[in-house]
Amino acid sequence: MCLEDEVNLRWLDEKKPITRWLARLILPVEKISKETLFDCRMCGQCILHSTGMTCPMRCPKNLRNGPCGGVRPNGNCEVFADKPCVWVQGIERAPRLPLWQEDIHHLQPPVNWRLQGTSSWINLFTGRDAIRPRGWENANEPQTNSDQHG
Ligand code: SF4
Repeated sequence: MCLEDEVNLRWLDEKKPITRWLARLILPVEKISKETLFDCRMCGQCILHSTGMTCPMRCPKNLRNGPCGGVRPNGNCEVFADKPCVWVQGIERAPRLPLWQEDIHHLQPPVNWRLQGTSSWINLFTGRDAIRPRGWENANEPQTNSDQHG
């Protein structure tokens, strides 16, 4: 177990001892299943339901509100020209979901890198993924036209 894991488990321990043991059980299950299904990068703050079930952490710029301005005319990534932009994929996939079609319009807060490598399921359960930096308290609210156009 690496130092980062220990730090994360200690955080859980301070909150509720049982979550430490849950983390030991749940973390490998989440990691294996989501890496297999979604090429998950274990950011610890999952927003798959807001991205058409396309992992945004596969974006080389780690954008949580994409795409950037560099998408190629064929829909591929500016950085990896041979790969599709994950945000183009997400926007295409979102309307095909049985649920959460509108969640693609939610404004996401910046990535909290302190959660990297932790279980997003546990972070959701404990509320840890909802802790926002100052200035981002209203993130996840749907954008209005006035937000989008200044
Ligand atoms: S958003 Fe985070 S937790 Fe969800 S699939 Fe991507 S890296 Fe994994």
